[in-house]
Amino acid sequence: MTPKTLPCPEAQLRDIAARWPTPFHLYDEKAIRAAARRLRDAFAWNKGFRNFFAVKAAPNPYLMRILQEEGFGADCSSLPELILSERVGLPGEAIMFTSNDTPAEEFAKAKALGANINLDDISHIPFLEAVCGLPERVCLRYNPGPLKGGNAIIGKPEEAKYGLTRDQLFEAYALLQAKGVRRFGLHTMVASNELNPQYFVDTAILLFDLAAELHDRLGIWFDFINLGGGIGIPYRPEQDAVDIEAVGEGIRKAYAERVTGRGLPDVPLCFECGRCITGPAGYLVSAVRHLKHTYRDYVGLDACMANLMRPALYGAYHHITVLGKPGPCDHVYDVTGSLCENNDKFAIQRPLPEVVPGDLLVIHDAGAHGHAMGFNYNGKLRSAELLLREDGTVTQIRRAETIDDYFATLDFSALPTFK
Ligand SMILES: *Cc1c(COP(=O)(O)O)cnc(C)c1O
Repeated sequence: MTPKTLPCPEAQLRDIAARWPTPFHLYDEKAIRAAARRLRDAFAWNKGFRNFFAVKAAPNPYLMRILQEEGFGADCSSLPELILSERVGLPGEAIMFTSNDTPAEEFAKAKALGANINLDDISHIPFLEAVCGLPERVCLRYNPGPLKGGNAIIGKPEEAKYGLTRDQLFEAYALLQAKGVRRFGLHTMVASNELNPQYFVDTAILLFDLAAELHDRLGIWFDFINLGGGIGIPYRPEQDAVDIEAVGEGIRKAYAERVTGRGLPDVPLCFECGRCITGPAGYLVSAVRHLKHTYRDYVGLDACMANLMRPALYGAYHHITVLGKPGPCDHVYDVTGSLCENNDKFAIQRPLPEVVPGDLLVIHDAGAHGHAMGFNYNGKLRSAELLLREDGTVTQIRRAETIDDYFATLDFSALPTFK
């Protein structure tokens, strides 16, 4: 069970909604720092442990600065994400570049920043070499294929587009060695939104055994082993949060057996978690615009799927609180946005207290892959992002888009005159 709470008293939320037009995303600094420290503490036994925050989950420099203060790096997979990390002031070693189908200029930028470059394919070795020369250290992304069971969101590893096969991995490290590379990383990412702690322990075991085999066959060892992201969060109140301490302890035991227990040197471990750090700390706040009663009862919000796409994209559940109405949940609604897509629904057949126009709805767990997935289809504009500071004050960390932003890529002055 994970009770869904608000980040501040209701009266303060109403004050914030009076100062900034709805919809907006609100992030809770205290909760972000607590999640970061919890992950860090669970791996305090591992010297050099680091989480590279997956920038795509919440690409906002103010949030990245908070995480930088907590000792986190950044996991990037595009040129803008690399530039964002650079502008936040992260040093190269704190940047992980885990991309796929990578353009040349992104490799060049990652190398210029001194980032850890993680290759998604064996063909990227000569490609990277031709673009900018191989860096001193190269990491490879492993796809275990049928050797690892599937996970609901990311799918079965053998159907996933990412990473090198097992055979390619041995070939690729040997090729890198032949090209003079002496420092290596090993990476995999096989889960997304996974709630079972054992899944992460099993992934670590898989990587530790593989690292040992690579050591035995090729004589290489690793500067780091990266276990990827994918630690899930309890979107539904009846779900339990992942026991991060159990993950840390399970991986510590596996490490003691399969790394140091084999006489192999210590190696820093890392993760690339985004969701479990900022997800539960983010709230989408929206006002009810219209009620509509046809074959179903509809609550029409001033937010739409451009502000939070997960329900439409994955059928994902996001809990909803109606401000000032603790219950009973004796009405059943489809909660929609205004986009001309019938899947623009935040909730389908959701029991809620009776709602009226003007009510404020808080959509929970929107802090990762929420605002970040926003888009402009149907002329919808992305909302502001606000940060609730530890001292209780609120700062705007991204303004809302305007119609001028929407038209910024068009040149109306070059429009041919109507004949
Ligand atoms: C998306 C992604 C992550 C982050 O996943 P979360 O579910 O937010 O933890 C980490 N690494 C890679 C390579 C990714 O694509």
